[in-house]
Amino acid sequence: MKVVKIGGGCLKGIKNIQRIIALVAERCQGDCLVVSALNGITDTLITGMEKALAAEENIPKIIRHLETVHLKIAGDLMPVGSCFESFTKALSTGLKDLERLYYGLNFTREITPRMHDIIASFGERFSAQLLTALLCAKKLKAATRMPHQIGLLTDGRYGDATADMKRVRSNLPKQINPVFRKKGIAVVPGFYGISTQGEITTFGRGGSDYSAAVIAAALGAETLEIWKDVDGFMSADPRMVTEAELIPRLSYAEAAELSYFGARILHPRTVEPVRKKKIPIVIKNTLAPDNPGSLINSKSPRHRTVIKSVAHDTDIGILKVHASAVGARPGILARVAGQITEKGINIKSVVTSQTCISLLFSKKDVEKARLALKELKPRPYRRLEKLEHVALIGIVGEGLLKKKGVAARCFTAVAGCGVNVEMISFGPSRAALYFLVKMQDLPGAITAIHSTFFSDPRCVL
Ligand code: ASP
Ligand code: MG
Repeated sequence: MKVVKIGGGCLKGIKNIQRIIALVAERCQGDCLVVSALNGITDTLITGMEKALAAEENIPKIIRHLETVHLKIAGDLMPVGSCFESFTKALSTGLKDLERLYYGLNFTREITPRMHDIIASFGERFSAQLLTALLCAKKLKAATRMPHQIGLLTDGRYGDATADMKRVRSNLPKQINPVFRKKGIAVVPGFYGISTQGEITTFGRGGSDYSAAVIAAALGAETLEIWKDVDGFMSADPRMVTEAELIPRLSYAEAAELSYFGARILHPRTVEPVRKKKIPIVIKNTLAPDNPGSLINSKSPRHRTVIKSVAHDTDIGILKVHASAVGARPGILARVAGQITEKGINIKSVVTSQTCISLLFSKKDVEKARLALKELKPRPYRRLEKLEHVALIGIVGEGLLKKKGVAARCFTAVAGCGVNVEMISFGPSRAALYFLVKMQDLPGAITAIHSTFFSDPRCVL
Protein backbone atom coordinates (compact mmCIF):
# COMPACT_ATOMS: atom_id res chain seq x y z
CA MET A 1 0.00 0.00 0.00
CA LYS A 2 1.23 3.45 -0.81
CA VAL A 3 0.21 6.97 0.09
CA VAL A 4 0.02 9.36 -2.83
CA LYS A 5 -0.08 13.09 -2.26
CA ILE A 6 -1.58 15.07 -5.12
CA GLY A 7 -0.39 18.65 -5.16
CA GLY A 8 -2.51 21.68 -5.95
CA GLY A 9 -0.17 22.55 -8.82
CA CYS A 10 -1.36 19.46 -10.73
CA LEU A 11 -5.00 20.04 -9.87
CA LYS A 12 -5.29 22.82 -12.38
CA GLY A 13 -7.65 22.85 -15.35
CA ILE A 14 -9.79 20.13 -16.87
CA LYS A 15 -7.02 18.37 -18.84
CA ASN A 16 -4.66 17.96 -15.90
CA ILE A 17 -7.36 16.76 -13.58
CA GLN A 18 -8.50 14.26 -16.18
CA ARG A 19 -4.93 13.02 -16.44
CA ILE A 20 -4.70 12.65 -12.66
CA ILE A 21 -7.89 10.60 -12.53
CA ALA A 22 -6.58 8.30 -15.26
CA LEU A 23 -3.28 7.89 -13.41
CA VAL A 24 -5.04 7.13 -10.14
CA ALA A 25 -7.24 4.54 -11.89
CA GLU A 26 -4.17 2.89 -13.37
CA ARG A 27 -1.87 3.02 -10.35
CA CYS A 28 -3.63 3.64 -7.06
CA GLN A 29 -6.31 1.03 -6.42
CA GLY A 30 -6.05 -0.05 -2.83
CA ASP A 31 -4.00 3.03 -1.94
CA CYS A 32 -4.51 6.24 -0.04
CA LEU A 33 -4.69 9.64 -1.74
CA VAL A 34 -3.97 12.79 0.20
CA VAL A 35 -5.07 15.82 -1.74
CA SER A 36 -4.32 19.53 -1.79
CA ALA A 37 -6.89 22.11 -2.68
CA LEU A 38 -7.34 22.82 -6.39
CA ASN A 39 -4.74 25.23 -7.68
CA GLY A 40 -5.22 28.74 -6.27
CA ILE A 41 -8.18 27.88 -4.05
CA THR A 42 -6.38 28.22 -0.70
CA ASP A 43 -5.21 31.67 -1.76
CA THR A 44 -8.79 32.58 -2.68
CA LEU A 45 -10.02 31.39 0.71
CA ILE A 46 -7.33 33.34 2.57
CA THR A 47 -7.58 36.59 0.63
CA GLY A 48 -11.35 36.15 0.93
CA MET A 49 -11.03 36.70 4.68
CA GLU A 50 -9.71 40.23 4.23
CA LYS A 51 -12.32 40.94 1.58
CA ALA A 52 -15.09 39.64 3.82
CA LEU A 53 -13.83 41.85 6.60
CA ALA A 54 -13.70 44.89 4.34
CA ALA A 55 -17.22 44.62 2.94
CA GLU A 56 -20.10 42.22 3.34
CA GLU A 57 -20.95 42.62 -0.36
CA ASN A 58 -17.75 40.77 -1.26
CA ILE A 59 -18.87 37.53 0.37
CA PRO A 60 -21.35 36.26 -2.25
CA LYS A 61 -18.74 36.92 -4.95
CA ILE A 62 -16.17 34.73 -3.21
CA ILE A 63 -18.70 31.96 -2.70
CA ARG A 64 -19.85 32.15 -6.31
CA HIS A 65 -16.30 31.99 -7.57
CA LEU A 66 -15.55 28.87 -5.51
CA GLU A 67 -18.77 27.28 -6.68
CA THR A 68 -18.08 28.02 -10.34
CA VAL A 69 -14.54 26.61 -10.29
CA HIS A 70 -15.54 23.34 -8.65
CA LEU A 71 -18.79 22.88 -10.57
CA LYS A 72 -17.11 23.50 -13.90
CA ILE A 73 -14.66 20.67 -13.32
CA ALA A 74 -17.33 18.37 -11.96
CA GLY A 75 -19.67 19.15 -14.86
CA ASP A 76 -17.03 18.73 -17.53
CA LEU A 77 -15.57 15.52 -16.15
CA MET A 78 -18.52 13.44 -15.05
CA PRO A 79 -22.02 12.78 -16.29
CA VAL A 80 -25.01 13.83 -14.25
CA GLY A 81 -25.77 10.90 -12.01
CA SER A 82 -25.39 9.80 -8.43
CA CYS A 83 -21.66 10.63 -8.16
CA PHE A 84 -22.18 14.09 -9.60
CA GLU A 85 -25.12 14.68 -7.34
CA SER A 86 -23.42 13.57 -4.18
CA PHE A 87 -20.61 16.00 -4.97
CA THR A 88 -22.86 18.97 -5.72
CA LYS A 89 -24.74 18.29 -2.50
CA ALA A 90 -21.54 18.20 -0.46
CA LEU A 91 -20.25 21.32 -2.21
CA SER A 92 -23.39 23.30 -1.56
CA THR A 93 -23.47 22.30 2.12
CA GLY A 94 -19.81 23.25 2.47
CA LEU A 95 -20.30 26.58 0.72
CA LYS A 96 -23.23 27.43 2.97
CA ASP A 97 -21.05 26.83 6.04
CA LEU A 98 -18.24 28.81 4.55
CA GLU A 99 -20.53 31.71 3.72
CA ARG A 100 -21.72 31.82 7.32
CA LEU A 101 -18.14 31.86 8.53
CA TYR A 102 -17.27 34.78 6.28
CA TYR A 103 -20.30 36.72 7.53
CA GLY A 104 -19.13 35.85 11.03
CA LEU A 105 -15.79 37.49 10.29
CA ASN A 106 -17.48 40.57 8.97
CA PHE A 107 -19.72 40.75 12.02
CA THR A 108 -17.06 40.19 14.66
CA ARG A 109 -14.50 42.30 12.72
CA GLU A 110 -11.75 39.91 13.59
CA ILE A 111 -9.85 37.07 11.88
CA THR A 112 -8.87 34.83 14.76
CA PRO A 113 -6.30 32.06 14.17
CA ARG A 114 -9.10 29.58 14.75
CA MET A 115 -11.31 31.12 12.07
CA HIS A 116 -8.35 31.42 9.74
CA ASP A 117 -7.70 27.69 9.95
CA ILE A 118 -11.31 26.63 9.59
CA ILE A 119 -11.79 28.76 6.49
CA ALA A 120 -8.43 27.86 4.92
CA SER A 121 -9.23 24.14 5.20
CA PHE A 122 -12.23 24.23 2.86
CA GLY A 123 -10.18 23.90 -0.32
CA GLU A 124 -8.89 20.47 0.63
CA ARG A 125 -12.31 19.32 1.75
CA PHE A 126 -13.83 20.28 -1.61
CA SER A 127 -11.04 18.76 -3.67
CA ALA A 128 -11.19 15.47 -1.74
CA GLN A 129 -14.94 15.27 -2.33
CA LEU A 130 -14.50 16.21 -5.98
CA LEU A 131 -11.82 13.59 -6.65
CA THR A 132 -13.82 10.91 -4.88
CA ALA A 133 -16.82 11.72 -7.05
CA LEU A 134 -14.75 11.72 -10.24
CA LEU A 135 -13.30 8.32 -9.33
CA CYS A 136 -16.74 6.96 -8.47
CA ALA A 137 -18.02 8.17 -11.83
CA LYS A 138 -15.27 6.02 -13.39
CA LYS A 139 -16.70 3.04 -11.49
CA LEU A 140 -13.79 2.93 -9.08
CA LYS A 141 -14.31 2.30 -5.41
CA ALA A 142 -13.31 5.51 -3.71
CA ALA A 143 -14.31 6.99 -0.37
CA THR A 144 -13.51 10.31 1.27
CA ARG A 145 -12.20 10.05 4.80
CA MET A 146 -12.18 13.40 6.60
CA PRO A 147 -9.53 14.07 9.27
CA HIS A 148 -12.16 14.17 12.02
CA GLN A 149 -13.54 10.79 10.92
CA ILE A 150 -10.18 9.05 10.97
CA GLY A 151 -8.79 10.62 14.13
CA LEU A 152 -6.02 12.67 12.56
CA LEU A 153 -5.24 14.48 15.80
CA THR A 154 -2.88 17.39 16.35
CA ASP A 155 -1.34 19.41 19.17
CA GLY A 156 -3.91 22.13 18.55
CA ARG A 157 -1.55 24.88 17.35
CA TYR A 158 -3.35 26.99 14.80
CA GLY A 159 -1.49 27.61 11.54
CA ASP A 160 1.44 25.40 12.50
CA ALA A 161 0.05 22.25 14.02
CA THR A 162 1.99 19.03 14.60
CA ALA A 163 0.34 15.63 14.37
CA ASP A 164 0.02 13.64 17.57
CA MET A 165 1.70 10.58 16.06
CA LYS A 166 0.89 8.21 18.87
CA ARG A 167 -2.82 8.79 18.61
CA VAL A 168 -2.81 9.05 14.83
CA ARG A 169 -1.06 5.71 14.62
CA SER A 170 -3.64 4.05 16.79
CA ASN A 171 -6.66 5.73 15.11
CA LEU A 172 -5.93 5.74 11.40
CA PRO A 173 -5.52 2.08 10.44
CA LYS A 174 -8.86 1.15 12.03
CA GLN A 175 -10.64 3.80 9.99
CA ILE A 176 -8.86 3.47 6.67
CA ASN A 177 -7.91 -0.19 6.32
CA PRO A 178 -11.51 -1.29 5.66
CA VAL A 179 -11.42 0.83 2.47
CA PHE A 180 -8.26 -0.93 1.29
CA ARG A 181 -9.62 -4.37 2.04
CA LYS A 182 -12.16 -3.84 -0.72
CA LYS A 183 -9.37 -2.64 -3.03
CA GLY A 184 -10.86 0.82 -2.68
CA ILE A 185 -9.12 4.19 -2.78
CA ALA A 186 -9.22 6.27 0.40
CA VAL A 187 -9.21 10.00 -0.33
CA VAL A 188 -8.13 12.24 2.56
CA PRO A 189 -7.96 16.03 2.46
CA GLY A 190 -4.47 17.24 3.35
CA PHE A 191 -3.35 20.42 5.12
CA TYR A 192 -5.11 20.03 8.46
CA GLY A 193 -5.91 17.82 11.40
CA ILE A 194 -8.18 18.08 14.42
CA SER A 195 -7.19 19.16 17.91
CA THR A 196 -8.30 17.14 20.92
CA GLN A 197 -10.94 19.84 21.40
CA GLY A 198 -12.27 19.06 17.93
CA GLU A 199 -10.92 22.21 16.28
CA ILE A 200 -9.51 22.34 12.76
CA THR A 201 -5.80 23.13 12.87
CA THR A 202 -3.70 23.53 9.73
CA PHE A 203 -0.09 22.44 9.26
CA GLY A 204 0.97 25.73 7.61
CA ARG A 205 1.03 26.65 3.92
CA GLY A 206 1.95 23.71 1.74
CA GLY A 207 1.12 21.41 4.65
CA SER A 208 -0.53 18.64 2.62
CA ASP A 209 2.87 17.05 2.10
CA TYR A 210 3.24 16.80 5.83
CA SER A 211 -0.31 15.36 6.14
CA ALA A 212 0.61 12.70 3.60
CA ALA A 213 3.80 11.84 5.49
CA VAL A 214 1.89 11.56 8.76
CA ILE A 215 -0.66 9.25 7.12
CA ALA A 216 2.05 7.16 5.43
CA ALA A 217 3.82 6.68 8.76
CA ALA A 218 0.59 5.86 10.60
CA LEU A 219 -0.50 3.29 8.02
CA GLY A 220 2.96 1.82 7.58
CA ALA A 221 2.86 2.53 3.82
CA GLU A 222 5.52 1.03 1.54
CA THR A 223 6.12 4.36 -0.16
CA LEU A 224 5.06 7.96 -0.02
CA GLU A 225 4.65 9.38 -3.51
CA ILE A 226 4.43 13.12 -3.94
CA TRP A 227 2.73 13.96 -7.23
CA LYS A 228 3.73 17.32 -8.61
CA ASP A 229 4.15 19.10 -11.92
CA VAL A 230 7.97 18.94 -11.81
CA ASP A 231 10.40 16.00 -11.82
CA GLY A 232 11.87 16.55 -8.38
CA PHE A 233 14.76 18.22 -6.61
CA MET A 234 17.28 19.93 -8.85
CA SER A 235 21.00 20.60 -8.41
CA ALA A 236 20.23 24.33 -8.65
CA ASP A 237 17.34 26.54 -9.67
CA PRO A 238 17.07 25.87 -13.43
CA ARG A 239 15.99 29.48 -14.01
CA MET A 240 19.38 30.55 -12.75
CA VAL A 241 21.63 27.71 -13.89
CA THR A 242 20.78 26.22 -17.28
CA GLU A 243 22.93 23.13 -16.60
CA ALA A 244 20.96 22.27 -13.47
CA GLU A 245 20.20 18.55 -13.31
CA LEU A 246 17.63 16.43 -11.55
CA ILE A 247 18.88 14.86 -8.30
CA PRO A 248 17.88 11.22 -8.66
CA ARG A 249 18.57 10.20 -5.05
CA LEU A 250 18.70 12.05 -1.76
CA SER A 251 18.99 11.14 1.89
CA TYR A 252 16.34 12.24 4.36
CA ALA A 253 18.74 14.83 5.78
CA GLU A 254 19.51 16.26 2.35
CA ALA A 255 15.83 16.51 1.45
CA ALA A 256 15.04 18.12 4.80
CA GLU A 257 17.72 20.78 4.26
CA LEU A 258 16.66 21.44 0.67
CA SER A 259 12.99 21.72 1.48
CA TYR A 260 13.67 24.92 3.43
CA PHE A 261 14.66 26.65 0.23
CA GLY A 262 12.39 28.49 -2.16
CA ALA A 263 11.79 25.72 -4.71
CA ARG A 264 8.81 24.43 -2.68
CA ILE A 265 9.32 20.86 -3.71
CA LEU A 266 8.40 19.56 -0.28
CA HIS A 267 6.94 21.07 2.88
CA PRO A 268 9.89 21.37 5.28
CA ARG A 269 8.44 18.95 7.79
CA THR A 270 7.53 16.13 5.42
CA VAL A 271 10.59 14.06 6.21
CA GLU A 272 9.96 14.04 9.98
CA PRO A 273 7.22 11.38 10.24
CA VAL A 274 8.50 8.95 7.60
CA ARG A 275 12.19 8.99 8.44
CA LYS A 276 11.91 6.84 11.56
CA LYS A 277 9.93 4.22 9.70
CA LYS A 278 12.31 4.38 6.74
CA ILE A 279 9.46 4.90 4.31
CA PRO A 280 10.92 6.15 1.03
CA ILE A 281 9.56 9.33 -0.53
CA VAL A 282 9.33 9.53 -4.31
CA ILE A 283 8.66 12.76 -6.17
CA LYS A 284 6.66 12.04 -9.32
CA ASN A 285 5.91 14.35 -12.19
CA THR A 286 2.30 13.84 -13.27
CA LEU A 287 3.15 15.37 -16.66
CA ALA A 288 5.78 12.64 -17.19
CA PRO A 289 4.76 9.87 -14.78
CA ASP A 290 7.26 7.35 -16.06
CA ASN A 291 10.23 9.58 -15.29
CA PRO A 292 12.10 8.29 -12.27
CA GLY A 293 11.84 11.58 -10.31
CA SER A 294 13.73 12.06 -7.05
CA LEU A 295 13.91 9.21 -4.55
CA ILE A 296 14.50 10.05 -0.89
CA ASN A 297 15.48 7.37 1.59
CA SER A 298 18.11 6.55 4.17
CA LYS A 299 20.53 4.94 1.76
CA SER A 300 21.19 7.64 -0.76
CA PRO A 301 24.50 7.26 -2.57
CA ARG A 302 26.93 10.14 -2.41
CA HIS A 303 27.39 12.38 -5.38
CA ARG A 304 30.97 12.14 -6.59
CA THR A 305 31.69 15.61 -5.23
CA VAL A 306 29.53 15.09 -2.11
CA ILE A 307 27.44 18.13 -3.06
CA LYS A 308 24.01 17.37 -4.45
CA SER A 309 22.56 20.82 -4.71
CA VAL A 310 23.34 24.52 -4.57
CA ALA A 311 20.17 26.08 -3.27
CA HIS A 312 19.28 29.65 -2.45
CA ASP A 313 16.70 31.74 -0.69
CA THR A 314 16.11 35.38 -1.54
CA ASP A 315 13.47 35.97 1.11
CA ILE A 316 16.08 36.88 3.68
CA GLY A 317 16.62 39.83 5.96
CA ILE A 318 19.15 40.04 8.77
CA LEU A 319 19.10 41.78 12.08
CA LYS A 320 22.53 42.08 13.66
CA VAL A 321 22.45 42.48 17.40
CA HIS A 322 25.80 43.95 18.41
CA ALA A 323 26.77 43.15 21.98
CA SER A 324 30.05 42.44 23.71
CA ALA A 325 31.09 39.03 24.99
CA VAL A 326 27.99 37.24 23.77
CA GLY A 327 29.43 33.91 24.82
CA ALA A 328 30.18 35.05 28.36
CA ARG A 329 26.80 36.51 29.27
CA PRO A 330 24.25 33.99 30.40
CA GLY A 331 20.76 34.45 29.04
CA ILE A 332 21.41 37.07 26.37
CA LEU A 333 20.47 34.80 23.50
CA ALA A 334 17.35 33.64 25.32
CA ARG A 335 16.25 37.23 26.01
CA VAL A 336 16.73 38.28 22.40
CA ALA A 337 15.09 35.20 20.90
CA GLY A 338 12.37 35.14 23.57
CA GLN A 339 11.31 38.71 22.89
CA ILE A 340 11.00 38.02 19.17
CA THR A 341 9.17 34.75 19.59
CA GLU A 342 6.74 36.40 21.97
CA LYS A 343 5.67 38.69 19.14
CA GLY A 344 4.95 35.67 16.98
CA ILE A 345 7.86 36.39 14.62
CA ASN A 346 9.66 33.41 13.15
CA ILE A 347 13.45 33.31 13.28
CA LYS A 348 14.76 31.39 10.27
CA SER A 349 18.24 30.91 11.65
CA VAL A 350 20.78 32.30 14.10
CA VAL A 351 24.51 32.82 13.69
CA THR A 352 26.51 34.12 16.63
CA SER A 353 29.99 35.35 17.34
CA GLN A 354 31.41 36.89 20.51
CA THR A 355 30.42 40.40 19.42
CA CYS A 356 27.27 39.86 17.45
CA ILE A 357 24.14 37.77 17.20
CA SER A 358 22.85 37.64 13.64
CA LEU A 359 19.24 36.69 13.25
CA LEU A 360 17.86 35.61 9.89
CA PHE A 361 14.26 36.40 9.07
CA SER A 362 11.85 36.41 6.22
CA LYS A 363 12.02 39.92 4.68
CA LYS A 364 8.64 40.94 5.99
CA ASP A 365 9.71 40.24 9.58
CA VAL A 366 13.01 42.14 9.95
CA GLU A 367 11.55 45.51 10.85
CA LYS A 368 9.01 43.93 13.18
CA ALA A 369 11.85 42.12 14.95
CA ARG A 370 13.88 45.32 15.25
CA LEU A 371 10.98 47.13 16.88
CA ALA A 372 10.43 44.19 19.23
CA LEU A 373 14.04 44.31 20.40
CA LYS A 374 13.92 48.06 20.90
CA GLU A 375 11.27 47.47 23.53
CA LEU A 376 13.62 45.37 25.68
CA LYS A 377 14.52 47.07 28.96
CA PRO A 378 17.31 47.06 30.07
CA ARG A 379 18.89 46.67 26.68
CA PRO A 380 21.05 43.60 26.47
CA TYR A 381 22.81 44.91 23.34
CA ARG A 382 24.77 47.92 22.13
CA ARG A 383 23.39 48.47 18.66
CA LEU A 384 20.96 46.98 16.16
CA GLU A 385 21.73 46.84 12.48
CA LYS A 386 19.52 45.74 9.61
CA LEU A 387 21.05 44.03 6.64
CA GLU A 388 18.89 43.86 3.55
CA HIS A 389 19.40 42.95 -0.11
CA VAL A 390 21.14 39.72 0.81
CA ALA A 391 20.52 36.14 -0.24
CA LEU A 392 21.23 32.87 1.51
CA ILE A 393 23.08 30.12 -0.32
CA GLY A 394 23.06 26.56 0.93
CA ILE A 395 25.23 23.81 -0.42
CA VAL A 396 23.72 20.51 0.48
CA GLY A 397 25.20 17.03 0.55
CA GLU A 398 25.46 14.40 3.25
CA GLY A 399 28.95 14.29 4.73
CA LEU A 400 30.10 17.66 3.41
CA LEU A 401 31.56 18.79 6.69
CA LYS A 402 33.66 15.68 7.06
CA LYS A 403 34.96 15.58 3.55
CA LYS A 404 38.11 17.63 3.17
CA GLY A 405 38.14 20.35 0.56
CA VAL A 406 34.42 20.81 0.00
CA ALA A 407 34.12 24.15 1.77
CA ALA A 408 37.43 25.35 0.32
CA ARG A 409 36.30 24.45 -3.17
CA CYS A 410 33.02 26.28 -2.69
CA PHE A 411 34.59 29.48 -1.38
CA THR A 412 37.33 29.42 -3.99
CA ALA A 413 34.64 29.33 -6.66
CA VAL A 414 32.82 32.24 -5.03
CA ALA A 415 36.00 34.29 -4.62
CA GLY A 416 36.96 33.46 -8.19
CA CYS A 417 34.02 35.46 -9.49
CA GLY A 418 34.82 38.41 -7.24
CA VAL A 419 32.02 37.82 -4.76
CA ASN A 420 32.40 38.56 -1.11
CA VAL A 421 30.90 36.15 1.41
CA GLU A 422 29.02 38.11 4.06
CA MET A 423 28.44 35.51 6.73
CA ILE A 424 29.02 31.81 7.09
CA SER A 425 27.26 29.25 9.18
CA PHE A 426 28.60 25.77 9.62
CA GLY A 427 25.28 24.60 10.91
CA PRO A 428 24.94 21.60 13.14
CA SER A 429 23.61 19.72 10.13
CA ARG A 430 25.85 17.09 8.60
CA ALA A 431 24.31 17.82 5.27
CA ALA A 432 24.44 21.58 4.69
CA LEU A 433 26.64 24.63 4.71
CA TYR A 434 25.04 28.05 4.58
CA PHE A 435 26.35 31.49 3.78
CA LEU A 436 25.17 34.90 2.69
CA VAL A 437 26.03 37.01 -0.33
CA LYS A 438 24.77 40.36 -1.56
CA MET A 439 21.65 39.98 -3.66
CA GLN A 440 23.31 41.28 -6.80
CA ASP A 441 26.06 38.66 -6.44
CA LEU A 442 23.67 35.73 -6.17
CA PRO A 443 23.46 34.54 -9.80
CA GLY A 444 27.23 34.73 -10.26
CA ALA A 445 27.94 32.88 -7.04
CA ILE A 446 25.40 30.13 -7.70
CA THR A 447 26.65 29.56 -11.23
CA ALA A 448 30.28 29.44 -10.10
CA ILE A 449 29.60 26.98 -7.28
CA HIS A 450 27.42 24.80 -9.47
CA SER A 451 29.99 24.57 -12.19
CA THR A 452 32.80 23.74 -9.77
CA PHE A 453 30.84 20.85 -8.28
CA PHE A 454 28.94 19.64 -11.32
CA SER A 455 30.62 20.54 -14.59
CA ASP A 456 34.32 20.51 -13.88
CA PRO A 457 35.52 16.99 -14.70
CA ARG A 458 38.67 17.48 -12.58
CA CYS A 459 36.61 18.00 -9.53
CA VAL A 460 36.45 14.61 -7.90
CA LEU A 461 37.13 15.13 -4.26
N1 ASP B 1 -3.62 24.08 -0.01
C1 ASP B 1 -2.68 24.38 1.01
C2 ASP B 1 -1.77 25.51 0.56
O1 ASP B 1 -1.90 25.95 -0.57
C3 ASP B 1 -1.90 23.20 1.45
C4 ASP B 1 -1.13 22.48 0.36
O2 ASP B 1 -1.37 22.68 -0.82
O3 ASP B 1 -0.28 21.68 0.69
O4 ASP B 1 -0.96 25.95 1.30
MG1 MG C 1 -1.82 24.19 -2.35
